[in-house]
Amino acid sequence: METKSEASNLRFYAVLNAGSSSLKYSLFAEMEDGRLERRTNGSIEGIGSISPSFTAFDCDQYNLDEYQWNRPTGIGTLLAFLINWIENFLSPNRLSAVGHRMLHGGTLYDAPVLVTPAVLKTMRELIPLAPLHQPRILQVIDTINERYPGLCQIVCFDTSFHKSNPPVSRLYGLPRHLTDKGLIHYGFHGLSFEYVSEELKHIDRHAAMGKTIIAHLGSGASMCAMVNGKSIATTMGFSALDGLVMGTRCGQLDPGVILYLIQHEQMKPKELETLLYQDSGLLGVSGISNDVRDLMASTDPYAKEALDLFVYRVVRETGSLAAACGGLDAFVFTAGIGERSPYIRKAICRQLDWLGVELDERANNLGELKISTVSSRVSVWILPTYEELMIARHVARLSRETDHI
Ligand code: ADP
Repeated sequence: METKSEASNLRFYAVLNAGSSSLKYSLFAEMEDGRLERRTNGSIEGIGSISPSFTAFDCDQYNLDEYQWNRPTGIGTLLAFLINWIENFLSPNRLSAVGHRMLHGGTLYDAPVLVTPAVLKTMRELIPLAPLHQPRILQVIDTINERYPGLCQIVCFDTSFHKSNPPVSRLYGLPRHLTDKGLIHYGFHGLSFEYVSEELKHIDRHAAMGKTIIAHLGSGASMCAMVNGKSIATTMGFSALDGLVMGTRCGQLDPGVILYLIQHEQMKPKELETLLYQDSGLLGVSGISNDVRDLMASTDPYAKEALDLFVYRVVRETGSLAAACGGLDAFVFTAGIGERSPYIRKAICRQLDWLGVELDERANNLGELKISTVSSRVSVWILPTYEELMIARHVARLSRETDHI
């Protein structure tokens, strides 16, 4: 069932997150005091499959509507359905703007940007940097442009937050002509780090403006070191494969392994891509699952080893990031595993005692906001991430600015 909005003077923003087989949406209303309130969210899943499905939830996460297609359906039709559904939900109000989560801004974009023909052209040139993600997002933008000409679209990049990383931290030890082609360290999950660091500023300014590490531990995982609230180093690099062991991605890997696989296992680029993005990480190491919950429930020794490796890599990277910061004042857990797994948090914190981390076990088990003891030299926090809200904030600000152009 769809719920009609009352006519109002509020502005409404849709946030779209286009993945390889899903399209997630959130719809925000900008209140008179500037706060953004989510009114509905949901997704189309199974894009490219024989029966894609749509589900919508209300602001309390109660099921609002669902729909199933009984044949493979193109993205144009699915997107038209979604935008019509949102417009119907909003009627008599209208969408003021749409925001998109974009993986890669390359060296060209270090802030959210209004979509124009020139911007679209440049973003197409960035496809080789993120061939799995960028084409789908651009397809969504093109389709909206065609069907809803004049609707303001804004793109927010997951790389932008790391624009403050010092040049030396961006270099690989590669010949200069490759660096000049953009083969450098970019880093991702920037919208999550930006949101969490803004939240932390409201909660504890000292923690947010000191030497801080945020660990975004979800099915994709990376960590960001910040000084004075600005990113100075991060574990993902040129691609979203580097750094931590993830659900199905390998994380940091000796490049010699790739050479070996090409030269001695005759692996082709597509096979390597599948191996590194989809068949590795917790899933590959355990041979059981990419989900921490499944691994914790298993008695298989490989499940335990996969979890141990996940923790070990977080601990090793923390040492590296603390070195980049020159110390550590605060450590923040966020995203699916970081927010919901007391076991993983405890295992990580225990191995960080040498840095001055002292975990309050009770607070950790209860999932409280602050989970370090009073005497801990490093304060430790759990802060839920909310990338969609971060995008909506950028969209609200930028769409207002462009209204005045
Ligand atoms: P993404 O948004 O990248 O898909 P999330 O941040 O939602 O990922 O994290 C998903 C992961 O979080 C799951 O794969 C699972 O490993 C982990 N997770 C979710 N809930 C729990 C839980 N209660 N305990 C441990 N891990 C959990």
